[in-house]
Amino acid sequence: MRCDVAAHPSNRPITQENIASTEFWQLLDGETQEALEIVAPVLPFRTNSYVLSRLIDWDSAPDDPIYRLTFPHRDMLEPSEYERLRDVRRRGSPAEFALAVTEARAHLNPNSQGQSTLNVPLLDGRRMAGVQHKYHETALLFPAAGQTCFTNCTYCFRWAQFVGDPDLLFAAPDTSELVEYLRRTPEVTDVLVTGGDPMTMSARRLQDYIEPLLAPDLEHVQNIRIGTKAPASYPLRFFAEEDSDDLLRLLERVAKVRSLALMVHISHPVELSTLEAEEAIERLRNTGAVIRTQAPVLRHINDDPAVWAELWSSAVRLGITPYYMFVGRDTGAKAYFELPLVKVHEIYQEAYSKVTGLARSVRGPVMSATPGKVRVLGVQEVDGERVFVLDYLQARDPSLVRRPFFARYDPEATWFDQLRPLEGDEFRLL
Ligand SMILES: *Cc1c(COP(=O)(O)O)cnc(C)c1O
Repeated sequence: MRCDVAAHPSNRPITQENIASTEFWQLLDGETQEALEIVAPVLPFRTNSYVLSRLIDWDSAPDDPIYRLTFPHRDMLEPSEYERLRDVRRRGSPAEFALAVTEARAHLNPNSQGQSTLNVPLLDGRRMAGVQHKYHETALLFPAAGQTCFTNCTYCFRWAQFVGDPDLLFAAPDTSELVEYLRRTPEVTDVLVTGGDPMTMSARRLQDYIEPLLAPDLEHVQNIRIGTKAPASYPLRFFAEEDSDDLLRLLERVAKVRSLALMVHISHPVELSTLEAEEAIERLRNTGAVIRTQAPVLRHINDDPAVWAELWSSAVRLGITPYYMFVGRDTGAKAYFELPLVKVHEIYQEAYSKVTGLARSVRGPVMSATPGKVRVLGVQEVDGERVFVLDYLQARDPSLVRRPFFARYDPEATWFDQLRPLEGDEFRLL
C-alpha cells in the first residue's frame, strides 16, 4: 500500500519538528515514534511527502527498505547509549540532553577516513573552504548553499555535515578559490559538485557555482560531475518546480561545453519505479548529461542480490549506467547497517552474474578507505591458505592502482582497516 494521502507531493521538509502534525504520523509504529525522540537528535531525520507517499510501502513498514532508509531506529545506537539518552531525556534538563547528544555523536566516528584532515587542499598555505582533493584527477566542491538533501539517508556517511558541527561542515561560499586552485593544478580533469545535494539549490545558485568552471582557461577541467539523489528523493525537482526548466537549460549548457556526468545515488530499485522518477530521468538525459548510478550495500535496505540485479537492470532500461557498488562506511550507525565483506562480495557476484553485460559496467564492492578505493575481487586459496584478493581502483598514490594484493581471510571483517597482510605489516602489491 502506498499512502496516497499526498496527492501532490512537495519538497517541504518533514522532520522531527513537524512530523507529528502530518498525516504520516499515525502510520509510524510506536518504536519509531520513540526513536524519533531519542535517536533523531543524534542522527537527524529529514524527508518529504514524495518519499513518504510514493516510495514507502506502508504494508511492509517498519521493515520496508525505504522506511529504514528514512527513519531512525533504536538499534542505530548502542543499547547502552540509547538507554542513557532515554534516561537523560526523561530525568535531565534540556542542556543535559543536548550534552548527551553531543557525546553520542562523538562515538559515531563523524570524520570517517580522514575526510577533513587528509583531503582538504591548501591554497597559499591556507586550508580551502568546501573543497576536497584526494585523487589527482578529481576535485570535490561542496557549495555552501547545497549542503542539505531532500531526504537524509539514515546511513549517510556525511551525516556530520547536517548536525551543525562547524569543524565538520564542508562549505564553499562560492567557486572563486576553487577556480584559482584549478588554474594552478592542471592535473585536475574532473570537478565533482557534491553535498548534501546540489539539486536542492535554485537553478540560479547552481549556475553561480558552475559557470566559473566553464571558463576557457580551465579547459583541462573536462568533466563536470554533479552528485545527487534528487531523481530518487524528489524527482519533481526536474519538472514541477518554478525553475525546473531553468535548471534543465543550465545542465544543457554545461553539457555543451564540457562533459556532464550526473552521479545519481540510487539505493533501491523502488526509487526508479515511479512515473515521476522516469519523467525526471528522461528530462535529464535529454540535456545531454550522462547519468550514472552508485550506492552502498546495507543491511536492512538492499542486502539481497535480487535487489541489486533489479536495480542495475532498471537503470540500464532507463538509460543509466551502473557505476559503483560501495561498502557502507565506518561511520554513523555503522553497526546497524554493516555486513561482512564476504557477504557483500557474494551479493555483488550473484547480482552481476544475472544481469546484461550492459549493466556490468558496475565496479565493486568498493571501500572508500583512507589510502584509496579498495575493491574486493574475491576469496582465493593461496599456498593452502584462504585469502581476500583486493585491488585499488583509486589511490592517493596512483602507482598503487589496479595491482592485486592479498589480505588474510576474515569472515567477520566489515572494513578495510580490519584486514591484515599475509605477513609483516604492509600489504604486498603484486
Ligand atoms: C570516489 C571519489 C572520487 C571519484 O573517483 P572516480 O573513481 O573517478 O569516480 C573522487 N574523490 C573522492 C574523495 C572519492 O571518494
